[in-house]
Amino acid sequence: MRSKNAQLKRARIHHHKAHKPNEPVWLFDLDNTLHNTSFRIFEHISLGMTVAVKEALNIDDAQAHLIRRAYWKRYGATVIGMVKHHNVDPHVFLRRSHDFDVKPLVQAERGIHRKLAQLPGRKVLVTNAPLHYAIAVLKHLRMHRMFDAVWAIEHLKLHGQYRPKPSVAMMRHIVACEGVKAHRTVLIEDTLENLKGARAAGMRTVHVFHPGTPFAKYARGRSPYVDMRIKKVSDLLLGKRTLA
Ligand SMILES: [Mg+2]
Repeated sequence: MRSKNAQLKRARIHHHKAHKPNEPVWLFDLDNTLHNTSFRIFEHISLGMTVAVKEALNIDDAQAHLIRRAYWKRYGATVIGMVKHHNVDPHVFLRRSHDFDVKPLVQAERGIHRKLAQLPGRKVLVTNAPLHYAIAVLKHLRMHRMFDAVWAIEHLKLHGQYRPKPSVAMMRHIVACEGVKAHRTVLIEDTLENLKGARAAGMRTVHVFHPGTPFAKYARGRSPYVDMRIKKVSDLLLGKRTLA
């Protein structure tokens, strides 16, 4: 029998649960949505990225730092620039850039797995982060069995090209693969750009405000592409009737 872990290595995980035809599908972002990545993890990712770029290109820290920032800004994920311009192996790069134990670093709402278990419908993770890292965080949060599918950066490709969030084409692709109507899906995210992309694909959107997220401070009140704005992800339960 295939282990849980092996199943999770695929973009889509079928638990063979009967899905009701019109049930809502909740698409969750990972970082600064399900857990507080700004607490300790972002600094590890930042250092890891610099080290991975430095080793791959044989350059110094300062140059590596500039390159990774530039690619992150331009492509939405550093690995995309590294593959495109330097032909690095994405899997090796992602391992190196996220090569730390998440256990002592994860901070999240107490009992988050029990709270989100009360949401009716299917749950899918969509993250621009690598799969091994996403799974490690989900396991630590005791949430990995809750998700029917995990879309990590490795899976966010269309016609051989990386299309991370906020790609509208990728959002449409995910909706099609999950076999639902776009208006029955809800993206729950801290990054406004990604919510904007989701809305353009016809999804509903929930903004989880996080002060550590870039540009979060500009989010005064609610943007037109945000259906609901919450301060912590479990507040989703308050709006489940309206959204589901
Ligand atoms: Mg996020």
